[in-house]
Amino acid sequence: MPDYSRPIIGISKCLEFDMCRYDGSRINNNFVRIMKKYVDFVPTCPEVGIGLGSPRKPIRLVKIKGQKNLYQPSTKKNLTQDMHNFTKKFLESNATIDGFIFKRDSPTCGITDVRLYHKLGESTGFDKTSGMFSEGVLEHFPNIVKEDEKRLNNITIREHFLTRIFVIANLREFSNTESVQKLFEFYSHNMLLLLCHDEKLTLELGSIFKTEDSFTIILDCFKKTVPKILSHPIQIIPMIDTFNYIFNYVKLKLSESEKSHYYSLIDGFENNLVLHSEISTLLYSWALRCGLQSIIEQSLFNPFPKNLLLDLMESKKEYSVL
Ligand code: SF4
Repeated sequence: MPDYSRPIIGISKCLEFDMCRYDGSRINNNFVRIMKKYVDFVPTCPEVGIGLGSPRKPIRLVKIKGQKNLYQPSTKKNLTQDMHNFTKKFLESNATIDGFIFKRDSPTCGITDVRLYHKLGESTGFDKTSGMFSEGVLEHFPNIVKEDEKRLNNITIREHFLTRIFVIANLREFSNTESVQKLFEFYSHNMLLLLCHDEKLTLELGSIFKTEDSFTIILDCFKKTVPKILSHPIQIIPMIDTFNYIFNYVKLKLSESEKSHYYSLIDGFENNLVLHSEISTLLYSWALRCGLQSIIEQSLFNPFPKNLLLDLMESKKEYSVL
């Protein structure tokens, strides 16, 4: 299963795509620019979509009669219904989305920590909430992979995002096959990776093939469970269990010094001194040497395209505002 499905990712349009911010600017985002080669983006700017234009006067979220409203103080316009209508239309015309990258701190697109002012007026307190458009999208697609653009500057979060988005896109393509055998192939291909994220749920998911033969029921279970498994970051103990599982296949062909090298790496990994990628690479090379095709093909070793990783590593620029 060497080919990668192209994830379909919604994105706030001001990130790399368009100069549609309130001040007429665009945010350069190197990660998004590189990803364009590997994913299909669906860029949207809800504020321009409701006719505000760019540049425009700022808008904010305000509590009115206990409800969250989208309000433009300079014009005294209440934009709540317009934004709900825009969100509904966006969702109707984009039925398939694997994930979304949202702009942080926007009353429309932010997913956390957006200011919700207690009342109309200048000096008022505020709580933290999510933006009005992002809230609608996430209510409609509770299982999509979501991130805000700034968190994606963190390498660990970024790799987790890429892993999830490519596996979920792959599952979407298998959904169209109507074949239980194909779903089993998907499970087998991703099993070691899923085990590292949530051992218990992964084993429960696999057991469905023993009790169920309806494609629709199995697919439904996969659509709910795989995003749940992958929502957890990699766990150290399940990861070591998975490494040891592979090691058991190859150890008969290893010298004593190679085995003790492996044990010292595991020790270092347990104590946060060694990266999991170091051990994975070593195990992959041993699996190659032993000709263990079923291990070599596991998505654990390459959950997303290697060239994407190389492109990201080659790139120096990280984040700048025009
Ligand atoms: S944050 Fe959302 S609404 Fe604001 S400019 Fe960007 S895409 Fe448009």
